[in-house]
Amino acid sequence: MERQGKRRRRVVLVPWPFQGHINPILQLGSILHSNGFSVTVVHTQYNPPDPSSHPDFSFLSLPDTSSDYNVLTGDALDFVLQLNAKCKARSRECLAEVMRQQGSDNGIACIIYDEYMFLSEETAKDLNLPSIILRTSTASNFLARTALIQLKTEGHIPFPESRSQDPVPKLYPLRFKDLPFSIFANLENFLQIVSKTSNSKTSSAIIHNTINCLENSSLAKIQQQCQIPIFPIGPMHKIASASSSSLSEEDSSCLAWLHKQSCNSVIYVSLGTIAFMDVKELVEMAWGLTNSRQPFLWVVRPGSVHGAEWIEVLPKSLKENIEERGYIVKWAPQKKVLAHNAVGGFLSHCGWNSTLESICEGVPMICRPCFEDQRVNARYVSHVWNVGLELESELERGEIERTIRRLMVDEEGKEMRKRGKNLKERIEFCIKEGGSSNNSLNKLIEMIMSF
Ligand code: UDP
Repeated sequence: MERQGKRRRRVVLVPWPFQGHINPILQLGSILHSNGFSVTVVHTQYNPPDPSSHPDFSFLSLPDTSSDYNVLTGDALDFVLQLNAKCKARSRECLAEVMRQQGSDNGIACIIYDEYMFLSEETAKDLNLPSIILRTSTASNFLARTALIQLKTEGHIPFPESRSQDPVPKLYPLRFKDLPFSIFANLENFLQIVSKTSNSKTSSAIIHNTINCLENSSLAKIQQQCQIPIFPIGPMHKIASASSSSLSEEDSSCLAWLHKQSCNSVIYVSLGTIAFMDVKELVEMAWGLTNSRQPFLWVVRPGSVHGAEWIEVLPKSLKENIEERGYIVKWAPQKKVLAHNAVGGFLSHCGWNSTLESICEGVPMICRPCFEDQRVNARYVSHVWNVGLELESELERGEIERTIRRLMVDEEGKEMRKRGKNLKERIEFCIKEGGSSNNSLNKLIEMIMSF
């Protein structure tokens, strides 16, 4: 709440320009705004957030030529480094301008930057401002990512196919195939990104969008390794006011379709914002879904199928089958979908936002991870929290059908739904007053106020 007669202190947020990173940082902005801070978002021209969804925030754009860059086929290291380099000079100017506008009192309290926008650490230091890192994936993923460097030194990676099922030393429950490699970069380049994002010299704290009750031991390990406090304040989408930061237009017609389905009957399918499939996989998925005899809501992102615009490549007879029990959209209001009582399962790529959104609604999952942290998340969902099954083989209709029935119909799935409900309740407890996330958030706010 605005403090009477006093100007609010300002926090500056610097997002990494992808949906899975923009959502949590803007949620954090909403949380801080409702705790008395003003918020300025300093963003790239590539994938800019929509200011109209956050009328209380100020937005400043950094000129970058990254829109010319083919992000999804290029090398990730190049993209990360280029974007950081291009934004650097202007970022300093931008912030100096915000500081001038704010005057000397109650100026910028701190800069909170996505770990991939590491240029911000130096900008903050140059301007004598405190900075805080935001990590949008899990603590366990961070540990696995940093372990890659050691594993490489010890000659464990790259690993042969024959070792893919072997456990990774000291990283239970991960197998070699679960390690969070990037889809884009070669190993050497990826390790450079890992090292850049894990070595902060001057930032004051680290915020994690995760929860103690999910990742107690990983969080404790990280805290042991680092000198600055870490604040696990998740799930931020449950704490922030419910504004959308979607970069695509949501098709809400699927909610009306969900209203007509019975409780826990629908399997929701989405592979997030970056993963791709080929036409063969699209067809196998379509057959698997229709053969499962469960109603399904399927998000097929335009352009996400190599060699097709959308679903025009599906045979007519298959489309007719789909219409009988399925509903396909280009983009869904996912949080509302997962909260709908008709949804009884989520076939997901296991991006961390999607995973958290599912767990927070007690919806059990079928995990189809593609790359990076998705593999770690899938392993935790299926082997630590025990609220999901992993689709491990190639996408094949028979396997998809069987796995959906295991989750949606069989006793095994019912047990998972019960565990999911229990986990949901534990998470709700963590965000209430006195709960672990609530305590962390209060400490974070105290820290920012003290700057
Ligand atoms: N999302 C959505 N509608 C969709 C698909 C995804 O709103 O049809 C949102 C979803 O709720 C989540 C984000 O997009 O917040 C995807 O982030 P995630 O970390 O799960 O995956 P990414 O796509 O970044 O790998």
